[in-house]
Amino acid sequence: MKYVDEYRNPEIARALVAEIARRVTRPWVLMEICGGQTHTLMRYGIPDLLPRKIDLVHGPGCPVCVTPVEIIDKALQIAAQPGVIFVSYGDMLRVPGSRDDLYRVKARGGDVRVVYSPMDALRIARAEPGRRVVFFGIGFETTAPANARAVWQARREGLKNFSMLVSQVLVPPAIRLLLESPRNRVQGFIAPGHVCTVMGYRQYETLSCEFRVPIVVGGFEPIDLLEAIQMLVAQLEEGRAETENQYARSVSRAGNVPAQELMEEVFEVCDRKWRGVGSIAQSGLRLRPEFAAHDAEKIFELEEQTVEEPAECISAEVLQGLKKPTDCAAFGTRCTPEMPLGAPMVSAEGACAAYYQYRRHGVAR
Ligand code: SF4
Repeated sequence: MKYVDEYRNPEIARALVAEIARRVTRPWVLMEICGGQTHTLMRYGIPDLLPRKIDLVHGPGCPVCVTPVEIIDKALQIAAQPGVIFVSYGDMLRVPGSRDDLYRVKARGGDVRVVYSPMDALRIARAEPGRRVVFFGIGFETTAPANARAVWQARREGLKNFSMLVSQVLVPPAIRLLLESPRNRVQGFIAPGHVCTVMGYRQYETLSCEFRVPIVVGGFEPIDLLEAIQMLVAQLEEGRAETENQYARSVSRAGNVPAQELMEEVFEVCDRKWRGVGSIAQSGLRLRPEFAAHDAEKIFELEEQTVEEPAECISAEVLQGLKKPTDCAAFGTRCTPEMPLGAPMVSAEGACAAYYQYRRHGVAR
């Protein structure tokens, strides 16, 4: 299949691994930002193919993982109300809030439905005018245009029974936070190709320049990731710190300008808490006041509360590349995909779930 087979070709993979081994002369710590990339790395055993000098750590780019407990608790409060249809992507249903999850609300009679697109939630709102339909609008810049479009369309149609609980986050402020941390170990980043398909990569050029750090926009197939690693190693060994684009078949420097304009029309930038990381300035999106009639946080009277993460969950350090999932004492014992303690074990894109699926029986390093 075109755009798949050539990016899983073993001969190309072997050549890239050999080139990385030829270039590397000293230890480098590299981070892939996106959970989809983490999943590919683990699935294809890429960390074990690389020279031992390359240490791959895993970033905060799993939208399910970083959605804060407080927002999950708000979703649970809304979903439990009579007359509400709560609509969500499927992987949010098992994410633990402070006491509950959406599956349990559904089991107790809450009308919780799984969809693949916010447009499906709009269809439900049109079909059920007597019910309040709330869509759980989470994700990075990747999901933001579609979510913006749903809210924009609801306002245009006068769909008063449609609203969105928004927990959108932005990648560049999270990379900035990592780079500003005195504990940062990461020397090169693989930026998320799907986010950059929407946003382009000018913001990453600013980060490369300001922090003298190489960034390569990478795709999601094994050859994409090996090539991105090879490009990062080349930069580091040559003392360069630039943003380069490995994923040129999808990403342009400017990105998808109409999508960005729609996001700008519907959302405004705000501070946002990331689960396991804490509040990051200017790292989120919320609905603009013009769309308040579709803002679930304004429509529903919700209790504000601060929730502590389970003490033994080290997801904060995992999501910042300071530790690996296997460093966690609960990994694979008290925390499994069936009974997750922390969000990185819930989503298929979470680093802990990827390690559990592909490496729990034999972790090389
Ligand atoms: S294995 Fe579970 S408890 Fe440990 S860091 Fe990952 S999600 Fe948290």
